Amino acid sequence: MSGFQAPKGTHDVLPPESARFASCVASFAGIVERAGYGLVVSPMFEDAAVFRRGAGESSDVARKEMYEFEDKGGDLLALRPEGTASVVRAYVQHRPLLPFKTWYVTPQFRYEQPQAGRYRQHHQLGVEVLGIEDPDVDVEVIALLVGYLSSLGLAQLELAVNSMGDRNCRPAYLESLTHFLATHESELCDEHRPGEGRPGWQLNPLRFFDCKRPECLALRPLAPRLGDWLCDACKAHHARVTEGLDALGIGWHQDDALVRGFDYYTRTTFEVASPALGTAQNALGGGGRYDGLVETLGGPPTPGVGFGSGIERVLLACDAEAVLPPPQRSVEVFVVDLVGGDAARLLTHELRAAGVPADRAFGGRSMKAQLKLADRSGALVALIVGPEERAAGVVTVRPLRAVAGEDGQRDRQQQVPRQLVVEHTRVLVGQLRAAA
Ligand code: AMP
Repeated sequence: MSGFQAPKGTHDVLPPESARFASCVASFAGIVERAGYGLVVSPMFEDAAVFRRGAGESSDVARKEMYEFEDKGGDLLALRPEGTASVVRAYVQHRPLLPFKTWYVTPQFRYEQPQAGRYRQHHQLGVEVLGIEDPDVDVEVIALLVGYLSSLGLAQLELAVNSMGDRNCRPAYLESLTHFLATHESELCDEHRPGEGRPGWQLNPLRFFDCKRPECLALRPLAPRLGDWLCDACKAHHARVTEGLDALGIGWHQDDALVRGFDYYTRTTFEVASPALGTAQNALGGGGRYDGLVETLGGPPTPGVGFGSGIERVLLACDAEAVLPPPQRSVEVFVVDLVGGDAARLLTHELRAAGVPADRAFGGRSMKAQLKLADRSGALVALIVGPEERAAGVVTVRPLRAVAGEDGQRDRQQQVPRQLVVEHTRVLVGQLRAAA
């Protein structure tokens, strides 16, 4: 019988790749915490209606991709397919003081057709700001996304920006789009052409712009542009956002088709793509404003804006640009134990307590086998505790990596009194690190 495999569309993140994953989280956390955002941790599953109403019934997420299930108590729950609805639900429930500036790191679940950069479980880092209508906060969140991606070393970033209008100007635009789609119905792709029990584009005309099939793409340039229908307030908001990006030196381009899959967006939408990925799945992160969502989920009228960025996708972009290499080593010292008993146990414990990253061998293996492990651990120094060392009250300190300009590593091996060896090693490791 062959062993179990991770479910289709999911993957394990093992070392050293997991260290790159952790670097993304650490870099993101540092950047957003320094901008006044606090971590929110909410359940991985919610009442399915939170996500259905949140993402919108016409979204692919709600229609086709949710992992929905009835629990043993008969409640209809869903695994989190996107981050925003959860944060908004938590806000409505707890009503923290506004503005509510939050960030999250979370797995997300979507029943999609797996392909390069598209998984059934992926992880997102994101921010949400509730309670601020000022377009400057749209600029702030976009700058945080771009700043985070740049901090990883990514240089090939393309920022697309659009405005989705609001409840004042969008209805008239939708009428015009509806007329256009009705007129061109026969030219639409299979999914968007209404048919046997299929509403097609009528489900939500805006979903036409999400469609990547050639028939719909060919029609796109002929469709009415939302930008031409914006009311003065939406135009002013969009202008202030794009001016803000210019003022911060963040390059951007207008993308009239950027409607981003969810039904909740109002005014600003944005997405950062990586041309280095060269695949259809090249979005590294995206988001926008959702001024009606808090109300949809049962709260008072409260503006909101945020984004999500897929960690796996970002790491693929890092591979494509050859940045953020996996770290080379995890510990600095490796304790080789040739005597058993308390010696290695205590020494390793003392090293760790003194802040020196240390690992050790277990099980009384041969010196050769232990030194091999020491080498594989990436440690800079091996501390050898053998019978002679124990008898003399010393420890052998053996540098494992040649330092530029020096040779003969063995010659540099020293015996250090046991009571001084932790401090000696701490200093030595610092010197070796500096010289490396
Ligand atoms: P969305 O929640 O659809 O707005 O997506 C936000 C970001 O999450 C995208 O820009 C991608 O970086 C990432 N993402 C979305 N869906 C997937 C997926 N199925 N697999 C991997 N990453 C994804």
